[in-house]
Amino acid sequence: MSEAVRTTCPYCGVGCGVLASVDADGAARVAGDPAHASNRGRLCVKGSALGDTVGMEGRLLHPLLREADGVVRRAGWDEAIQRVADGFSRVVAEHGPDAVAFYVSGQLLTEDYYVVNKLAKGYLGTANIDTNSRLCMSSAVAGHKRAFGEDVVPGCYEDLEQAELVVLVGSNTAWCHPVLFQRVTQARDGRDGPRVVVIDPRFTATCEGADLHLPIRPGTDVRLFNGLLSFLFRHGVIDPAFIDAHTEGFDAALAAAEAEAGDPAQVAQQCGLQAADVVAFYRLFARHEKVVTLFSQGVNQSSSGTDKVNAIINCHLATARIGRPGMGPFSITGQPNAMGGREVGGLANMLAAHMELGEPAHRDIVQAFWQSPRMADKPGLKAVELFDAVGEGRIKALWIMATNPAVSLPEADKVRAALARCELVVCSDIVERTDTNAFAHVLLPALGWGEKDGTVTSSERRISRQRPFLPVPGEARADWRVVCEVARRMGFERGFEFGNPHEIFVEHAQLTTFRNREPAADGVPAAYRRLHLGSLARLDRRAYDTLAPVQWPVTEAGEGTPRLFSDGRFSHAHGRARFVATASRPPVHAVDREYPLVLNTGRIRDQWHTMTRTARSPRLNGHIGEPFIDMHPHDALRCGVREGTLARVSSRWGAMVGRVRHGGGILAGQVFVPIHWSDQFASDARVGGVVNPAVDPVSGEPEFKHTPVRVEPFAVRWYGFALARQALPASALSYWTLIRGDRFLRYELAHRERPADCDAWAKGWLGADETGADWLAFEDRETGVYRAVHLRDGRIESCLFLAAQPHLPSRQWLSSLFARERLDEADRLALLSGEPPGGGGDPGPVVCSCFGVGRNTILEAIRANDMDLPAQITAELRAGGNCGSCIPELRRLIAETRAVTAA
Ligand code: SF4
Repeated sequence: MSEAVRTTCPYCGVGCGVLASVDADGAARVAGDPAHASNRGRLCVKGSALGDTVGMEGRLLHPLLREADGVVRRAGWDEAIQRVADGFSRVVAEHGPDAVAFYVSGQLLTEDYYVVNKLAKGYLGTANIDTNSRLCMSSAVAGHKRAFGEDVVPGCYEDLEQAELVVLVGSNTAWCHPVLFQRVTQARDGRDGPRVVVIDPRFTATCEGADLHLPIRPGTDVRLFNGLLSFLFRHGVIDPAFIDAHTEGFDAALAAAEAEAGDPAQVAQQCGLQAADVVAFYRLFARHEKVVTLFSQGVNQSSSGTDKVNAIINCHLATARIGRPGMGPFSITGQPNAMGGREVGGLANMLAAHMELGEPAHRDIVQAFWQSPRMADKPGLKAVELFDAVGEGRIKALWIMATNPAVSLPEADKVRAALARCELVVCSDIVERTDTNAFAHVLLPALGWGEKDGTVTSSERRISRQRPFLPVPGEARADWRVVCEVARRMGFERGFEFGNPHEIFVEHAQLTTFRNREPAADGVPAAYRRLHLGSLARLDRRAYDTLAPVQWPVTEAGEGTPRLFSDGRFSHAHGRARFVATASRPPVHAVDREYPLVLNTGRIRDQWHTMTRTARSPRLNGHIGEPFIDMHPHDALRCGVREGTLARVSSRWGAMVGRVRHGGGILAGQVFVPIHWSDQFASDARVGGVVNPAVDPVSGEPEFKHTPVRVEPFAVRWYGFALARQALPASALSYWTLIRGDRFLRYELAHRERPADCDAWAKGWLGADETGADWLAFEDRETGVYRAVHLRDGRIESCLFLAAQPHLPSRQWLSSLFARERLDEADRLALLSGEPPGGGGDPGPVVCSCFGVGRNTILEAIRANDMDLPAQITAELRAGGNCGSCIPELRRLIAETRAVTAA
């Protein structure tokens, strides 16, 4: 076993510390880092499975070039880099700098982000560089800037434990930021722990055990928080001294709140809530001094996302609940380095080091520091408009790094069309095949997690190192190195001489201190910003390599800062925070007769983004393996679909197909579809293609949480599944989903036509025609049931189960047979039943991914042992005993069992 390396998880914005090593067999091993303040040794299920996701299968190992005739060929780095440099240079020369663009990612390290932003804004002279962070937290950025004068998260994770009340708004924290949620629940379950209120249209895993859940009507959050501001004022809970001394704009904000939300009963009615619940929430907020309001994509991904953020912040400013332990508004970011990207100007409307493109003084500072030949002088195009410009031919060369916009952007089919017509598409990625890479003219192999070297910043402003512990695969290179080489080939010899990430980090740190003056007695100078990395600007290589996690601002003595604004001074001129008068407005596109349901999109517990990494892990695929459409049973009835059948969700912008399910805590009138599936893992499940392109007018963040849709049956003649050791040719079928298991691939299938001769078709499709193979088959033409198993030398190679309806045997036992080199006679006899010899329980869908414990097994144990605590389940079955990510689901299963027993 190699010595453990301290690094940071590459998934969500919690930023957990990881101890990573390689064992004697070359397998990656990970554990939570007990010394990292963000997670104190914990990892969620995704973090725990990191070792499963770093293999070489599917990796992009060499540069690839697509020629004019469509042929893709391997190339050397020299040729590939020259192709990029020549292409970008030609477009700039012929059409100007705004004809090129970069679309980057919160997966990049700060050092990568820094150099690409420097190249675009300071050398090419365009601000057409935006990031996929635009899609998840740009409304928080805009809200912070309006309120505080700078994009600052004021608090730290400890505040969530020290709070008396935690309000979780638009955040399924239990699934999307599990370790942080565990910190909250552990505090809640302790003595004097915080009360928890969840505001979310869905009853998610986060709601399990909460004191109050407000299933708010989508898009009405501004009204709810305006109502709270009015309530706080009317009940004398505001802090006039703080408001007078440290803020401006209170009267206007209050007047706006009073105008539309002075009556809690009306607020409740407009937000689709019970009046008693709204008042209960307002009273809880009023009574508790220490309140943290944590918000995430449910707030941000809205055409009024920025106003929602400010409506929340207004309540904290009015009560002076900011800058002190256990209180404050808290934006939690989706990606590992969304915050780092914000710090170095990764958004199209920002400059590096928290300076503004729109401020001439800031542009001068950055240009003087970089000594660059030019400087972009206006904000660039934000993500949605950037791809519109590609589609319209205004942007002719585009470099995409570490992201998959053909899947993840709204109106994703239009994005594909835009990429198809773009003159030069360059993609830097760790895997070869993605929906976006299919459009690349130049494909550049990047380093992945475990290979990269640099820094990331978590949601609490904590800078942590990502360190390599794996060898560089093939010819892959760090993104920063490739960008610097392209810059030099474009003629920018100076400015990109970096030899390692340490040199880039130090330059970034120095820029945060450059002309960053302390507040003057009579106000704050124009260039004053809280982002100041102090002593990190003098880090030597060794100190960088051993850098311990630290929260910015960093002092000259090297100390971090857990909380900001404790002194009541903000980053606006004169040091005052600003209230923003917010008026609620409905989502841009309303439901109507044609599209009567509201589509909400989001993440599931065990997958990440477009699954390019997490789908490699059999453990993670066990939880939810298929794209689904979660909807209320009444809506399903109205739409003519049933649980387990396939349905088509369509909007004015596109359509997708998934399996109908209930039980996701969704109210009537809404449907929920996860964001993860791409064309690599399913026939037609990209929900991005369905999502409308409306954006927030301030932040440019898309309205992912509200698209009018309709749901219809997806008619097929048969349903089925196949398990196989080798990939199968599923693309010709009407519906397929690919799920990687342990030593097998699983396909969930359906098709519009039934084969005339099932046996002949199955043999050909499974590749079982060879002589010497065993072939077991059964068919009942009356019921439409067909089952076949292909064995070779006593070992199962593949199996196929078809039926007219989606009622098929459990996949669990059959899947387990792929781990055996030879089946015994009893197993052979049972194969076509799909059940173990002598029958036996179906464990049901996986709930605990760490130990592979299924729902049915857990329910049986709860009933048999009269359990009422997750810990009892853990003691009996181990479920919940490793990462703890499934504990909210264990709570739900206990509650469900109790409800059935009571009935
Ligand atoms: S909560 Fe999970 S996904 Fe997020 S950083 Fe921690 S281990 Fe990674």
